[in-house]
Amino acid sequence: MSILVVGSVAYDSIKTPFGARENALGGSATHFSFAASYFAPVSIVAVVGEDFKDADRNLLESHSINTRGLAKVPGATFRWKGEYSDNLNDARTLCTELNVLADFQPQLSNEDKANPFLFLANIHPELQLKVLEQMTERPKLVAGDTMNFWIEGEPSTLSQVVAAVDVLLINEGEARQLTNETNVVKAARHILDQGPSMVVIKRGEYGALGFSSDGVFSAPAYPLETVVDPTGAGDSFAGGFMGHLASSGDTTMRGYRKAMIVGSVMASFAVESFSVDRLRALTSIEVKQRFQELWKIAHFDELDSNEVLAHHLA
Ligand code: AMP
Repeated sequence: MSILVVGSVAYDSIKTPFGARENALGGSATHFSFAASYFAPVSIVAVVGEDFKDADRNLLESHSINTRGLAKVPGATFRWKGEYSDNLNDARTLCTELNVLADFQPQLSNEDKANPFLFLANIHPELQLKVLEQMTERPKLVAGDTMNFWIEGEPSTLSQVVAAVDVLLINEGEARQLTNETNVVKAARHILDQGPSMVVIKRGEYGALGFSSDGVFSAPAYPLETVVDPTGAGDSFAGGFMGHLASSGDTTMRGYRKAMIVGSVMASFAVESFSVDRLRALTSIEVKQRFQELWKIAHFDELDSNEVLAHHLA
């Protein structure tokens, strides 16, 4: 089954302890789409300016990412400038230039309106709602993401988005900010009370926790020696997660668990280079191998009752 994503398509300028890049292809919808494209067909709904390069559209198309809904309008493409200190888990936004994103009115084609999987990637929550409202029927699964910029700037519109999604993916700091809860378990419960049936809290190099009424699942991050640029890790996690759900069609807790591991795998590739350099050049063998490695890392046997001293069992 296919996925529709609405989000940002950007030119990012990024500084990390490993180097810097100016005007590199980025944006929440971009990272998401490359990661998801290894599992399911993806269509993008987004806007870019006149400065958007044909080569970048061709790159998306070369991954079978449908860009018919990627509108090109007068003005400049959305720009984001960020930097990371030695703690690569937290991005510091230096500058956000909405440019053509400020007046974007998404228009879905009839085909897009019937898509069974919808991902509302990080973008203005009003745009997330406008896309959701245009769907002809409720998709099988709607998931969403956001960030501090919108939590601070658009709290009431964002609360409508949170109430409308089945799965909210959000990073740990932003979950705290959204709920005013410092404890991550309490923050997750608070979010579940707003409407989603599942919340995935992304914790950077510490992995991700998935909470639902069925319980909690912990997906480790793949341990990497070198993280070059964490930008897009969250979007790539979401891409692997949604991509796998769309290909398996399994939206039970079992399906969500496997999808979270696939999310971790795709996020680990994303951070190995700037922009989409690594994500755009993967082979299916590399994806499968890393999944196997993560499975081995996380796998453990059940505790037999005779392994705990009997008097403690009484
Ligand atoms: P992530 O590192 O997965 O949280 O997402 C990084 C991407 O989000 C970058 O490529 C940026 O272009 C994009 N981004 C940053 N700020 C915003 C914003 N306010 N709205 C939409 N996208 C953004």
